[in-house]
Amino acid sequence: MQKATLATHAGYDSKSGFGSMAVPIYQSTAFDFGSADTAAARFALRELGPIYSRLTNPTCDVFEARVAALEGAAAAISTSSGQAAIFYAVANLAEAGDNIIVARKIYGGATTLLTHTIKRFGIEARVFDADSSDGLEALIDEKTKAIYFETLSNPQIAIPDISGIVEIAKKHGIITIADNTVATPILCNPINLGVNVVVHSASKYISGQGLNIAGIIASAKQTNSLLVNNPRYAHFNEPDESYHGLVYASLVEVFDLFTLRIRLSLLRDIGATLQPQAAFQLIQGLETLPLRMKAHSQNALKIAEFLSTHPKVKSVNYPGLNGDKFQNRAKEYLNGGASGLLSFEVSSADAAIAVLDNVKIFSIVVNIGDSKSIITHPASTTHQQLSAAELEKAGIAPGLIRLSVGIEDAKDLIADLDEALRKI
Ligand SMILES: *Cc1c(COP(=O)(O)O)cnc(C)c1O
Repeated sequence: MQKATLATHAGYDSKSGFGSMAVPIYQSTAFDFGSADTAAARFALRELGPIYSRLTNPTCDVFEARVAALEGAAAAISTSSGQAAIFYAVANLAEAGDNIIVARKIYGGATTLLTHTIKRFGIEARVFDADSSDGLEALIDEKTKAIYFETLSNPQIAIPDISGIVEIAKKHGIITIADNTVATPILCNPINLGVNVVVHSASKYISGQGLNIAGIIASAKQTNSLLVNNPRYAHFNEPDESYHGLVYASLVEVFDLFTLRIRLSLLRDIGATLQPQAAFQLIQGLETLPLRMKAHSQNALKIAEFLSTHPKVKSVNYPGLNGDKFQNRAKEYLNGGASGLLSFEVSSADAAIAVLDNVKIFSIVVNIGDSKSIITHPASTTHQQLSAAELEKAGIAPGLIRLSVGIEDAKDLIADLDEALRKI
């Protein structure tokens, strides 16, 4: 089925229950088993069905099934935030003494989580420049448990050498994790490119209107065979004492092992679970995601083209723009648009701040993926703590402005930017 059909139908049968067209919100902490036998069967995984909403909930199930369908994944599991999704995906593979390899150009919160916070859990992050996969192989050893990158990075708007990374990971039997938040399952399917695990901050384009903090993890059909009998992932092949000696690999024919272990172990014990109310709103977001990603991408391209010929603009970064550094990769990996993030440079920090203060439709907000347009000045906000040298290394010029282009009419957005640029 095509994505627009999956986005509106996958994971829900409106003929079930009372025939509700909208997916019902199962606002319930726990579920009545009806019989002691059923209770025992559900705990023993002989029968699938809800137990307690920290583990599963029928509304969250629909959201998970729909994202899994859109990503071409075997299964998905939702979490209470994108950060929780990233943490669970990594903690599902690595433990104290292990290492993970992480792309340099990723979301700031992912950088602090992966290079600082989990270091205190004994997991080392080795950073590589994903613009090329050249330096990657030298960082791998037998303790390497995952390679992590973003398909379209926030805020750098860079596209990594996904094929190169996947090839090296395959050679060494290592799981790749791609954050697909900015590209969304509509524009990019990392699993089709050979990636094993996809994570999202559903707070951005999937929510679409800036309504919820949420995350989701999707796992490819091929992930099972990479986990079973792979000495790197011994914990999937040995008894889990916390689940009365369950060997995850023994369930390879029945479950996606990656998401199963997150549910039975990490979600059970740490509990960063998505709420059914939020899942319901995210399902509404998914229904219009194909339409919105088209509109975000078309608007961003029009604005990038306008800015690229503007006398007061020094440079524009947008992978959909002719001549952009990442245009070839955008053509290779993205389908139907290059999403809504773009950045451009004006002469100085003062000029950039004047643009922010003079636009009327764009809001000064540090978020992305809202249907409403957003403008930020990274050097004075998200990247304020960096020195001048660090800013330069991170590719953040003092006059750099970042836009998350919304779905308003492009003519109005261009007029708004034009008016503000006249004032500098
Ligand atoms: C926002 C974001 C996150 C973090 O997600 P939250 O839902 O805010 O926890 C992770 N990755 C990317 C690319 C993001 O933009």
